[in-house]
Amino acid sequence: MAVTYLNDLATLVSLCKRRGYVFQSSEVYGGLNSCWDYGPLGANFKFNVKMAWWKAMTRRPDIVGLDAAILMHPTVWKASGHVDGFSDPLVDCKACKNRFREDHAAIKDGKKVCPKCGSGDITAPRNFNLMFKTFMGPVEDESAVVYLRPETAQGIFVNFENVANSMRKKIPFGIAQIGKSFRNEITPGNFTFRTREFEQMEMQYFVKPGTDMQWFETWKETRWSFYKQIGIRENKLRFNEHGPKELAHYARAAFDVQYEFPFGWQELEGIHNRSDFDLTQHAKFSGKKIEYFDEAAKEKYVPYVIETAVGCDRLALALLCDAYREEKVEGGGEDGDSRVVLGLKPEFAPIKATILPLSKKEPLQQLSHKIFADLAEDIDVDYDESASIGKRYRRQDEIGTPLCITVDFQSLEDQQVTVRHRDSMKQDRIALAQLKTYISDKLKNF
Ligand code: ATP
Repeated sequence: MAVTYLNDLATLVSLCKRRGYVFQSSEVYGGLNSCWDYGPLGANFKFNVKMAWWKAMTRRPDIVGLDAAILMHPTVWKASGHVDGFSDPLVDCKACKNRFREDHAAIKDGKKVCPKCGSGDITAPRNFNLMFKTFMGPVEDESAVVYLRPETAQGIFVNFENVANSMRKKIPFGIAQIGKSFRNEITPGNFTFRTREFEQMEMQYFVKPGTDMQWFETWKETRWSFYKQIGIRENKLRFNEHGPKELAHYARAAFDVQYEFPFGWQELEGIHNRSDFDLTQHAKFSGKKIEYFDEAAKEKYVPYVIETAVGCDRLALALLCDAYREEKVEGGGEDGDSRVVLGLKPEFAPIKATILPLSKKEPLQQLSHKIFADLAEDIDVDYDESASIGKRYRRQDEIGTPLCITVDFQSLEDQQVTVRHRDSMKQDRIALAQLKTYISDKLKNF
């Protein structure tokens, strides 16, 4: 069977819209640049992506969860360096008026030129702060300014002591969080890859100074295994080390996990050794000591932080890109001679099984509804009775449903249904009494 993988993003964008994964935000008004809405399937899928990360992080004894507010005390962002330093150098092309990040410029004869029109007539860079500003309360003056958080990490740092004390955590331990972040990106784009509103999944792991590089290596390995385990093709993944020039001011070491998107190798996740920078800054700006007393060693210190930070939307996009395939079925199959499959692992599929009655006649409908209600107690199921069975299978393949359950007239007689597998297209006849066990087993060992 000949298989082709995704090689242009537009194909995926169109599938996402057609099948209810992702829609352009405010589309009836012409859309809002770089903002996207997850449709019914996308919402379920994104929830599954978050669950996979949350489970990997918090179902271990040394990591706990947190859900901090988006709005924080404005001094947080002074301490973190975002008010003064979270900016990108912005340049304008005088010829075509394109505005872009200086590091996105193209190079011609050793000179920076506009990446859109190639003109060398560009302005000097100006710094542009990426934080969204708003006002808290009814008065819109400087004292009421608050920011939409540009990263979730600071909510974790300022709660370090609350968490350590209330949960009686001993170092090394970590805090994991999933939540929205906002950055007024100069050049958003590539669908949900870079947007101005996005969700982050971050984990900060607090360690004793001196053990930090060892933990950094451990976390690199742990995160690499996570990507392998969730089914991303390993040849599409690589590490990229930040050189001394790319390192953020607070970082002692940084590696990105990159994925090869249809538009090239790009960062999926950052793994950083942030030293004691953040806790020290918050101690300085708040005037309160933030220290950890190590009972075993009988010493006090400011912990170092190893951070793993991945965009939920970006991981969701990588999973979709990786799962998309077109298959030519030799000799034609039940679906004709080609089909599109979203080969998601069942844990990510928005629908695990769909009930397909072969006819809309009442006794079949009744039995199908009963099967639906029964399965819906445990898994996400769908029900589809319109169009030919071939077309319905094709739709389920395209949205990544692992199993289709066909109910036919024979089912009324023998209390059995046909279960079709997405990847092999093989079919099994299963007794209704065994259906739940069969499905749960198949989803686990797909
Ligand atoms: P970049 O250099 O691409 O702007 P970054 O290095 O500033 O990204 P981090 O601050 O390390 O990114 O954020 C951690 C993760 O959050 C990134 O690896 C990415 O997955 C996600 N992320 C960051 N910015 C965006 C964005 N604008 N849209 C979607 N996801 C984002």
